[in-house]
Amino acid sequence: MSPRNEPTFRESVDLMFNRAVALMDLAPGLEEKIRVCNATYTVRFGVRLRGQIQTFVGYRSVHSEHMEPVKGGIRYAPSVNQDEVEALAALMTYKCALVEAPFGGSKGGLCIDPRNYDEHELEQITRRFAYELAKRDLINPSQNVPAPDMGTGEREMAWMADQYARMNTTDINARACVTGKPLNAGGISGRVEATGRGVQYALREFFRDPRDMAKAGLTGSLDGKRVIVQGLGNVGYHAAKFLAEEDGCIITGIIERDGALFNPDGLDVAAVHNWMRSHGGIAGFPDAAHTAEGGAVMEEDCDILIPAALEGVINLENAARIKAPLIIEAANGPVTAGADDVLRQKGTVIIPDMYANAGGVTVSYFEWVKNLSHIRFGRMQRRQEEAQHKLIIDELERLSADSGVGWQLSPDFKQKYMRGAGELELVRSGLDDTMRIAYQSMRDVWHGRDDVEDLRTAAYLVAIGKVADSYRAKGL
Ligand code: NAD
Repeated sequence: MSPRNEPTFRESVDLMFNRAVALMDLAPGLEEKIRVCNATYTVRFGVRLRGQIQTFVGYRSVHSEHMEPVKGGIRYAPSVNQDEVEALAALMTYKCALVEAPFGGSKGGLCIDPRNYDEHELEQITRRFAYELAKRDLINPSQNVPAPDMGTGEREMAWMADQYARMNTTDINARACVTGKPLNAGGISGRVEATGRGVQYALREFFRDPRDMAKAGLTGSLDGKRVIVQGLGNVGYHAAKFLAEEDGCIITGIIERDGALFNPDGLDVAAVHNWMRSHGGIAGFPDAAHTAEGGAVMEEDCDILIPAALEGVINLENAARIKAPLIIEAANGPVTAGADDVLRQKGTVIIPDMYANAGGVTVSYFEWVKNLSHIRFGRMQRRQEEAQHKLIIDELERLSADSGVGWQLSPDFKQKYMRGAGELELVRSGLDDTMRIAYQSMRDVWHGRDDVEDLRTAAYLVAIGKVADSYRAKGL
């Protein structure tokens, strides 16, 4: 995506890392130890399809094992390569540290365009890939726990979990070998929406502090803010939908593979998503102008730009023309290191990927804990909580009647107050708490240090500090 004279994705991540460590006082050699990718495994395997053997190339990279298991998604895309997988694995290390998910960083990928295969073929390919990884403990509940990423979802995770279970018939924790599974295969409520939900919680936290808004030249709240989103997949769709339906944002632009839709009065995100699913693209959607030149819509005037598709889409070629004062990196690595410099000089505020899309790994962490504890969250306490709340309500009503005051609690209040938290409520609460606390740790550094001018450097400082602490505790 980015012009040839720009660093690769991996180099971009390292440049941003280097900018942060220059401000730190790490023990000699520790910086190098944290930066490098520990190991990358390349696998080439054959699957008999359509009467002949087809060979596939896949990767699983482990960036840092300061905590185990290591964690990170598996991506299916024709463009997957070692550099990309290693960059994404490094980002996972920093992301997990920042949001205090007790994992090291890893990432995987398979060079494949999943749209070229039917479901049965994809299952064969996925099971074979999972077999190759599980054989080497690169899928394992206590060593390495994959999750969905671009081109994969619940279906692929269920196949992988089942493949691992078939190979490890006596492992009672087999289900914890991957996250992002469907509910009926050991998944957790709220995982599919988690990354988009996390983007929403991140923006809510940003808009809670007038100092942060002032840095971007924004005022007020999320209500009425004009948003452009690139990529209406899992992350982009949920983020845009929640922001529009729950926070009053106006989604003015949606950019997809086949161009972009633009409507200054706002697009109906769910309707565009339905159209895309039934037509294979966004072109032809009524109630909006369509342009085949999707990239140009990223440069339109708006308050918030959400790149939620691929890396390198904001680069030296277009960075100067980006008008949005606030960019939230829902995708991994959408802004190159060069573009980051240009945008910082312009005063654009960037909420960095390692924080912005951490909702996925956060809820994956909850799913892994659920699998290891073999019980759904809320199962023990929900009805007990409801009974306690009912006691209070009954007592209030009795006091009101006995004293002759005659207060009536509204049925709506009673219903809401009496409901004990189920799994989805608990997951959202845990995610909200995680996103707020992690943001606050970045904010403290951003506003508290004169030598830190942006949130990305602040995020790296917090994350690297935590990884360094882990290494120190291990005696390194
Ligand atoms: P996805 O496959 O569900 O969606 C990606 C979307 O981007 C698709 O709709 C696709 O058509 C669109 N797209 C592809 N190429 C495009 C282009 N050139 N221009 C515009 N749109 C294009 O993937 P996802 O899971 O939503 O992941 C998106 C990004 O978020 C990736 O960078 C991924 O690493 C990151 N991420 C995902 C998760 C997760 O939980 N799924 C978690 C953290 C980070």
